[in-house]
Amino acid sequence: MAKLIDGKAIAQEIKDELMQEIASMKERGIEGALAVIQVGSDPASTVYVSNKKKACEALGLRSESCEFPEDVTEEALLKKIHEYNHNPRIDGILVQLPLPSHIDEKKVIDAIEPTKDVDGFHPLNVGALLIGEKGLISCTPAGVIELFKRSGIEIAGKHCVVIGRSNIVGKPMAVLMLRENATVTIAHSKTKNLEQICRNADILIAAVGKPKMIKASYIKEGAVVIDVGIHRLEGKKLCGDVDFDEVEPLVSAITPVPGGVGPMTIAMLMNNVVLAMKEHYGL
Ligand code: NAD
Repeated sequence: MAKLIDGKAIAQEIKDELMQEIASMKERGIEGALAVIQVGSDPASTVYVSNKKKACEALGLRSESCEFPEDVTEEALLKKIHEYNHNPRIDGILVQLPLPSHIDEKKVIDAIEPTKDVDGFHPLNVGALLIGEKGLISCTPAGVIELFKRSGIEIAGKHCVVIGRSNIVGKPMAVLMLRENATVTIAHSKTKNLEQICRNADILIAAVGKPKMIKASYIKEGAVVIDVGIHRLEGKKLCGDVDFDEVEPLVSAITPVPGGVGPMTIAMLMNNVVLAMKEHYGL
């Protein structure tokens, strides 16, 4: 029977640790804060923003939000980011993506002060990750590394196949696995013989964005499978990029959807806010 990697429990463990750290900083007069910027009123974005604010509250962090209408100018958005950049009472800044098409997403990400870039998307943080320097790391891939560490799953020396090369998940995931001394293959939409490549993986990380695409035929027996995908099926049930029912009997460990990688993302966002606070206060 495969070991189920319990992301919900591990995320809670991380949040409990952070809560203690935040409380002890508060005793020293340090109160952390996250600023969240939302453009428009897309229902999914509104849920994400509200969950992030709730997570802050639950851990004892202050959160500040700024909501702009869909037709806000790029200039006004950049001005707000600059304000937050220079506000000493704000430790982390997050702009909820995606943005409307008249706004240049890259310009917005580049405008965030790197030490406050709690999403870890700024080119300076991405570069720091690549060369192994200190910086803020994209939350979902950072969460996957915590899942391995806290479940006692060895990474060093393993062959890891990451499917997906997005800037938010696939690429930073591959770099983090390399940092942990895995031998890494990155597969993507133009990869040939994907099934065969995946069958060589000791660790398979799926960040493809295609519901239940990864079937039993992609799996080496005894592999560890991490499913980053989240999809809502008809009837509202959630599933991942992996066909869990087919794959689970073959593997040594697997993350479920829901309850695997998903809860880790917000826990690691909170971790990034705490890291940003420590950097700002020289702790
Ligand atoms: P994306 O669409 O930006 O990237 C998908 C990647 O998959 C691309 O790099 C593409 O090359 C590759 N790909 C697409 N079709 C393929 C195919 N047939 N064969 C091989 N590779 C293929 O998506 P993303 O933002 O990286 O997210 C990936 C998945 O993870 C999505 O389901 C998303 O909802 C989910 N996600 C979950 C969390 C979380 O908190 N758990 C966070 C971010 C993203």
